[in-house]
Amino acid sequence: MDRLVDKVAVITGAGSGIGRVAARLFADEGASVVVADIDADQAGEAAAEIAAAGGTAVPVGVDVSDEREVADMVEVAVGRFGGLHVLFNNAGVFPADDGGILDTPPDTWQRVMDVNLKGVWLGCRAAVPAMLASGGGSIVNVASFVALMGAATAQVAYTASKGGVLALTRELAVEYARSGIRANSLCPGPIETPLLSELLADPERRNRRLVHIPIGRFGRPEEIARAALFLASDESSFVTGSALVVDGGITAAYVTPE
Ligand code: NAD
Repeated sequence: MDRLVDKVAVITGAGSGIGRVAARLFADEGASVVVADIDADQAGEAAAEIAAAGGTAVPVGVDVSDEREVADMVEVAVGRFGGLHVLFNNAGVFPADDGGILDTPPDTWQRVMDVNLKGVWLGCRAAVPAMLASGGGSIVNVASFVALMGAATAQVAYTASKGGVLALTRELAVEYARSGIRANSLCPGPIETPLLSELLADPERRNRRLVHIPIGRFGRPEEIARAALFLASDESSFVTGSALVVDGGITAAYVTPE
């Protein structure tokens, strides 16, 4: 319970799903956590839960695609907790009308890029100077298994944005490797969170995905949060520029066992 003692962590998208569970886990491991989300009420609830459990957290309402708001988010970490050591760039969107090459509306493409890719860049851009001033840190950017393989159930904007996260993270890792900042991507498989609730509520769409998961079930948010904790903590001190795949075996399989 002490893997993030004396660390200050910013988690985006921390009002729901993976980010919310990670915020609680990081706080349980000793971090002071900035709980950031575009839904300020949800961020407030998540921070209150952490405080009620004896942890340290402050909520921040932020749109990760807004440069000024992202800079302010990092300022909260430095101002309230004295520095920044961990950034978990987890906020993301998965709009229902993101589909194939021909049918995805350009506005949807742009919104997905703004949140999922530009938002990650802006987070890194704001965090790096604060981490350098804090003696180094770890950045964990959430991509997806779809950044590694094509899906017949197309979602081109989402997939392209997550591919961009992998490429951005590699460059970030190399650029700051000798400055004490590590950067890694996390590639979750399908996880039961509000992001997928509509899709997974439809038995046919649910089963179409389930048949591809060798482990035979969808993932749980805590299974991703624990991987993020490993990358965030000093336990992964020689890991940088990598993409950690946590997908129940999807990307390893050609044919999934019955
Ligand atoms: P979720 O919808 O439960 O949580 C996402 C959170 O991000 C929400 O609280 C939402 O309010 C917040 N958010 C959305 N836009 C934002 C913005 N512009 N600024 C700040 N916050 C914003 O989803 P989740 O499943 O927990 O997803 C977390 C991350 O994991 C996302 O990047 C997602 O793409 C990725 N991911 C999820 C799955 C999955 O199956 N659930 C699989 C692979 C990757």
